[in-house]
Amino acid sequence: MIAEHLSENELQQYVSDSLHCEQSIREHIKSCYICKEKAETYQILFSGIQRQQKPEFDFNLTDLVIAQLEQPKRSFSTNIVVAYLLSSIGITAVLISCFLFHEYLSGLFIRYSNLLIYLFMAITAVVFLFQCIEICRKYKKQIGVLNLS
Ligand SMILES: [Zn+2]
Repeated sequence: MIAEHLSENELQQYVSDSLHCEQSIREHIKSCYICKEKAETYQILFSGIQRQQKPEFDFNLTDLVIAQLEQPKRSFSTNIVVAYLLSSIGITAVLISCFLFHEYLSGLFIRYSNLLIYLFMAITAVVFLFQCIEICRKYKKQIGVLNLS
């Protein structure tokens, strides 16, 4: 049995969940009329709070928030057009050279096959390295934006 009266926290714990609170608290409530009265007061208070209507906005909050969100820009970028144009020109140039010099290229692939494999591996490694660096920069930039907001 607890010698002193129950604390406010223990009383609230008893009122909110009397089945799962400590046995000593329940026994004290049964034996002490002062704490029992306080617990009943809390019970009235809690039931009054639960009976209150939940606050509702008289306007649509979702529409207001969506209206303030920044819409993604769908502008026509000339950089993308230039990139596609340059890559088309490059691919066309490679295809034309392959067509014109296919006899020399087949001999080159046969004679220098090891050199070609190393060349492809080096190019792949460089591209992979640049992609990793770009991903890291993008990640750091996004984390910076998140930390500012
Ligand atoms: Zn008491």
